[in-house]
Amino acid sequence: MYKACPFCGRAAHLFLLQSIITCLNPDCKLYKIEFTYDQWEKRPIEDDLQVRIAGLEMQNAWLNTEIAGLVLTAGCIDIYKTKNEILQARIAKLEDVLKRANDIAELWVCEGSWGEDERELLDILAFNQWKEEE
Ligand SMILES: [Zn+2]
Repeated sequence: MYKACPFCGRAAHLFLLQSIITCLNPDCKLYKIEFTYDQWEKRPIEDDLQVRIAGLEMQNAWLNTEIAGLVLTAGCIDIYKTKNEILQARIAKLEDVLKRANDIAELWVCEGSWGEDERELLDILAFNQWKEEE
């Protein structure tokens, strides 16, 4: 089997007796120009381009894989943003609770009453101080 015409892309015509190949498309630049089999088949520029195309196709496949990964990552970022918003709201509520507990504990300390409930609140206050040092 031999290659198609490099200009018009049609199947070339092989004259077996003369061992000549040519293109029989009258609209083609190679129309009836005679080539040996080796001349017809040897196309260094086309071969180089085929190698380059193969390389670019591999690169394209790799880039498509990378893009798919980036789309997945973008989806994960949206999920993490939502989770972050939920956690930030929860942290704000807990900080408000701690502030109120601190206020109550401060009042009890001032009154000099040290029951179990007050000790528990003082523990909360100690936790809050530890948290603020971080
Ligand atoms: Zn041709």
